[in-house]
Amino acid sequence: MVGITPLEAWIRRKAGIGPESTGEGFAQALAAYQLQSLNDTIAYARRNAPFYRRCLASLPEASLSTLADMARIPFTTAQDLSKNPSGFLAVSQDDIARIVTLRSSGSTGEAKRLFFTDQDLELTVDFFHHGMSTLVRSGQRVAVLLPGELPDSVGDLLVRGLGRMEVQAVAFGPVGDPGRTAEQIASFGAHCLVGIPTQLLAVARSPSGAAIGKGRIESVLLSTDYVPAAIARSLEEVWGCRVFTHYGTTETGLGGGVECAALDGYHLREADLYFEVVDDQTGQPCADGRLGEVVFTTLTRRGMPLIRYRTGDIARILPEACACGSALRRMERVRGRRNNAIHLGAGSDLTLAEMDEALFRLPDLLDYRVSISQGKGGRFRMVVEVQGTEGDGPSEPEVLRQLMEVEAIRAGIANGYLDISGLGVSTEGRWGTTGVAKRTIVTSDPMSLGHAG
Ligand SMILES: [Zn+2]
Repeated sequence: MVGITPLEAWIRRKAGIGPESTGEGFAQALAAYQLQSLNDTIAYARRNAPFYRRCLASLPEASLSTLADMARIPFTTAQDLSKNPSGFLAVSQDDIARIVTLRSSGSTGEAKRLFFTDQDLELTVDFFHHGMSTLVRSGQRVAVLLPGELPDSVGDLLVRGLGRMEVQAVAFGPVGDPGRTAEQIASFGAHCLVGIPTQLLAVARSPSGAAIGKGRIESVLLSTDYVPAAIARSLEEVWGCRVFTHYGTTETGLGGGVECAALDGYHLREADLYFEVVDDQTGQPCADGRLGEVVFTTLTRRGMPLIRYRTGDIARILPEACACGSALRRMERVRGRRNNAIHLGAGSDLTLAEMDEALFRLPDLLDYRVSISQGKGGRFRMVVEVQGTEGDGPSEPEVLRQLMEVEAIRAGIANGYLDISGLGVSTEGRWGTTGVAKRTIVTSDPMSLGHAG
């Protein structure tokens, strides 16, 4: 028997939905709360944020009469945000407690800036408090392997949320030296770890990480846009723990949704965020069960409301009820990023997700990079660099065998439009930590491919 997600009771309290509303009644009550909050958000943003004053000028007051009316509201894109971040500010600069600057990897474009008031940050701490009660209980210890040095950084907010349920948490920071982090985890006596998939894999695959053995770490929470299943399985095998995934970005206010004990899709933070899935080409809403791009609207943020923000993440709403028995919707684990597929011609797309699933199955592999360029005659050249465990990485034939498991690579080579022109395995040192940046396939000539992540 799987326990019901603690997010349900929390969302009921925030949205004012009593225990008498169950099943369809709950869904209707939540929809009514969201509709009211969306109308409030649109009115607030239009009154206070220059970008929305301009972009929503022609909408009537209380513009939505049903949630389906959201389809008429224009999207907000990452480009809108990087072009003029302060155009989204809905309060005075003096009321901003924290600014997060995001530079997208490999892009020379302007950085996105996200503004949060104290009240906005409190909403995040509250979500972390209730969301983490899925994984840990009072008296336990959590090692947070995310940036936590600065006040109001993600690690700091998480530690504060956990403190409210009498869980002792320490933000050790992103993993620089996996062996040392493993020793810190062991001496702290952590029951739960929170971190980035490739970084936790490096900890688990270090000698000190493996020495922790099974049964001491009970749960791991992986937080990023895409969690390779091959990494989750490896962590389960090494530590005998349960691996949960969290979905959230800086734009969602760091928290977005978290899996319940059924480990089958995230329950979403629906009192603070309204999620939609839309066709990534046409922008039209997708029916539940259909894959599309995740779009969200903030319902409670004051500093910087976002309306129909396109995340670029590809996922779907699961149409079936969750095994935990909650009436909350579920979003399936994110499949990858829009525009992060490389078209190798002949209808064949290569995605980072497929590469991840093939390569992370190699037991001595810690991370990899792939870059693709297009030479004369349109032929694609692929260079793969693999980071192996210290002194003992996978062999080149092993890496090659896994690469050939990827359909787009196999077809590309067979049909003569792709070469693997370089393959290197490094087992010394370690690449710098990638932090929480979204991973992408690097193309040396994005223009000719048109699809660099
Ligand atoms: Zn559930």
